[in-house]
Amino acid sequence: MSRSSQRPRPRGKPGRDLQGDGFLHQARKRFGQNFLHDQNIIHKIVQSIRPQATDHIVEIGPGQGALTRHLLPACASLDAIELDRDLAAYLEQTLGSDPRFTLHQADVLKFDLATLGDAPRSLRIVGNLPYNISTPCMFHLLRYPHLIADMTFMLQLEVVQRLAALPGDSHYGRLGLMMQYFCRVEHLFDVPPTAFVPAPKVTSAIVRLVPHETPPVQVDDVACLQDVIRIAFTQRRKTLKNSLSALISEAELGGLPIDMSLRPENLSLAEYALISDTISRARHQGRQEQQEESHDRE
Ligand code: SAM
Repeated sequence: MSRSSQRPRPRGKPGRDLQGDGFLHQARKRFGQNFLHDQNIIHKIVQSIRPQATDHIVEIGPGQGALTRHLLPACASLDAIELDRDLAAYLEQTLGSDPRFTLHQADVLKFDLATLGDAPRSLRIVGNLPYNISTPCMFHLLRYPHLIADMTFMLQLEVVQRLAALPGDSHYGRLGLMMQYFCRVEHLFDVPPTAFVPAPKVTSAIVRLVPHETPPVQVDDVACLQDVIRIAFTQRRKTLKNSLSALISEAELGGLPIDMSLRPENLSLAEYALISDTISRARHQGRQEQQEESHDRE
């Protein structure tokens, strides 16, 4: 039997032979499959990752291995997380004999990164992410910031613009504020739809996210910061005074050096942190007073 005839058989209509080895795979929309085939772009992405011989790389959605084939020979180990069973079988068959390669046929959103190692800042995460789950995927990975050295992702350009946006930019909002709390964000370069098969409808971009060793602002309660930012941007057209009235009174916010008649897109992360701490302290004080009252009644 020839090598190519042993490959897993594709289901449905056959796709294009992207690796030149006879493997035909019809891209599945539900898995966000747009495969990289432009060799110049693939090299540019690999160069921007700059894999080192000691690196432990984790690739999300390796697909047919367009990036994997270049990263694997240049690193110490590569764990690949791929949901599609046919692609997982193909990767195992083509790259599985390399001792540096480990394939996990799994959903990245349910994957426990801590199973890959516990050394601080030891994992370099990469991936041309499935666009339909890119935001939940990034926030899932940020549950393990202590393990991650950096993350280099291909995303929709618009998402990268939102991640990197600063106050006053048209793309500034909840996604950028929360990501910038956890990571330094670098928009590296854009990638046209023609670099993929099938071509997506939108332009893509490469972004690097580096978890901060110390957050750029200190907050008492990150969940409260998330609440404040979510509520402020749910009602984008309202002033902060109005949108935050459900969380805290105007009088309690009055002492802050922040103009509460501004709209949410005009405030910096540091200003959201100040609001968040005022709210979490007011909540804490409220709880203490309640406890004292019930104590007095007993
Ligand atoms: N890296 C390949 C490339 O650049 O050609 C493929 C990229 S394609 C945009 C996204 C890949 O993620 C596909 O291989 C898809 O099957 C995989 N994928 C989709 N959802 C996933 C999930 N929840 N967990 C892991 N992999 C997933």
